Amino acid sequence: MERLDGTVALVTGASSGFGEAIARSLAAHGATVALVARRRDRLEQLACDIEERAGAALAIGADITQRSEAVAAVQETVDRLGRIDTVVNNAGVMFVDPVEHALLEEWDRMVAVNVNGLLNVAHASLPHLLQAAQQEPRRVADMVNISSVAGIKTGAGVSVYSLTKYGVGAFSESLRQEVAERHVRVSVIEPGSARTELRSHLRAAVQARGRARGSVERLEPDDIADTVAYIVTRPRRVAVNEVVIRPTEQQE
Ligand code: NDP
Repeated sequence: MERLDGTVALVTGASSGFGEAIARSLAAHGATVALVARRRDRLEQLACDIEERAGAALAIGADITQRSEAVAAVQETVDRLGRIDTVVNNAGVMFVDPVEHALLEEWDRMVAVNVNGLLNVAHASLPHLLQAAQQEPRRVADMVNISSVAGIKTGAGVSVYSLTKYGVGAFSESLRQEVAERHVRVSVIEPGSARTELRSHLRAAVQARGRARGSVERLEPDDIADTVAYIVTRPRRVAVNEVVIRPTEQQE
C-alpha cells in the first residue's frame, strides 16, 4: 500500500454517507482533501474533524449539477491546493418507483446529479489528473466513480436510477481506455445496499415497501471507503478497474 502524502483528492458528496467516509480515509492515508457538496456547514465540520486528526481539508460548497459551480469547485481546488491527483465522483441520489407511478422531477434529479453532475466534475478535473500523472510523488492519478449494483443488474422499480448508473459504468470504461496509457486510472465501484442517508430521501410509501421486503445487514460507509483506499494506493502498474461489493446476505 502506497501513501498519498503530497497528493490532493477531490471528493464529491462529502457531506454524508460514503463521501464523508472516503474523505476521512483518504486524509488518513496522507492526501489533502477537497470536500465538495451543497451542505457547506457539514463540510466545514468535517474539515475541522480531519484537521484535528492532523489531516488537511478544504470545504467547497457547490451544486455539481450547475456546470459553472462544478468547474469553480475544481478550479478552487487547484488554486488553493495546487493540483488534483484523485477524484472520487461519489455524489448521487436515488429515487425508486415503478415507471407508471414515477414523479418526473425525481427522474430529472437523478439524471442531473448522477449523470450530468458526474460529467461536469469529470470533464473539469481530467486535465489536472493528466498533469498530476506526469508528476511526483506518484506519477499516476485516479478517477474513482461510484456506481451501484443497479449499474450492472436492473430490476422492477429502479429503472431510471439503473439507467444513470449503467451510464456511469459505460462512461468510466470508455474514459479508462482513453487515458490508460497516460497513467490516469479510471475505476468504477458498484456497491450493494448500504447504511447511509440515501434512502431517507425516498417517499414514505416507498420506504415502507422496502422495509416490507425484509432487510439484510447492510454495508457501512467505511466498507466503501476501504475499497476506494485500496484502489488508489496500488502501485503505479496496477489498475483496479471495477469492484462489485455487496452485503454478504444480499442476493441480487
Ligand atoms: P448520501 O445521501 O448519504 O450522500 C449523497 C451525497 O451526494 C451527499 O453528500 C449530498 O450532499 C451529495 N449530493 C447530492 N446532490 C448533490 C449536488 N447537486 N451537488 C453536490 N453534491 C450533491 O448517500 P450515499 O453516501 O449512500 O451515496 C453516495 C453514492 O453511492 C451515490 O452515488 C449513490 O448512488 C451510491 N450508492 C449508494 C448505495 C447505498 O445503498 N447507500 C448503494 C450503491 C450506490 P448535499 O446534499 O450536501 O449536496
